[in-house]
Amino acid sequence: MKSMIVLLGPPGAGKGTQGEKLETELGYVRLSTGDMLREAVRNGTELGKKAKTYMDAGGLVPNEVIINLMKEKIQSLGKVPGIIFDGFPRTVEQAEALDSELNIDLALNFDVADEVLVSRLTQRRSCPNPSCNAVYHLTNNPPKKEGVCDKCGSELYQRDDDKEETVKKRLDTYHKNTEPLIGYYEKAGKLVTICGIGDIDGIFSKVKEALQ
Ligand SMILES: [Zn+2]
Repeated sequence: MKSMIVLLGPPGAGKGTQGEKLETELGYVRLSTGDMLREAVRNGTELGKKAKTYMDAGGLVPNEVIINLMKEKIQSLGKVPGIIFDGFPRTVEQAEALDSELNIDLALNFDVADEVLVSRLTQRRSCPNPSCNAVYHLTNNPPKKEGVCDKCGSELYQRDDDKEETVKKRLDTYHKNTEPLIGYYEKAGKLVTICGIGDIDGIFSKVKEALQ
């Protein structure tokens, strides 16, 4: 079974949902770069202190620091069925740096056309209640009463991230920086592309096939 996997695909393609299923159903551990950095800074580890100096200066944390944090975290996990890399690598340069330190088995690419993503994201409505956090979709999963959360009765809103202009900007950034990663992993013979349209369980069974 493949154990070190990178999830690729544009925002809204379902990486988060499928990553969660890998965690809950197969026991994979997700390494989120953001969470990992915050944890290291909070714990004041050597690498955390180093990362903090870059963050305080408003700069990007160098790849080398992030990758060393990942290695430290993976070691601390002991034996797990697999690791999912979330939010890193985002560029070919980061992928090259990662490859020189860790052996990635598989890059899973969730393929969804831009028009579908724009519709998925711009029709999303969120519950502002922090103890609820329900998410709806105007067409696929509408609330029973328009504009009102089924679970807690709060008034639903559209997150800034889900506004059409922002969605298009995020997609542009993805195409420019991250899409070249697909070619990179394809050349390395590690790429499996999965159509990200359809029901969540159907897509997950294709994910499991790719892990074999
Ligand atoms: Zn709610």
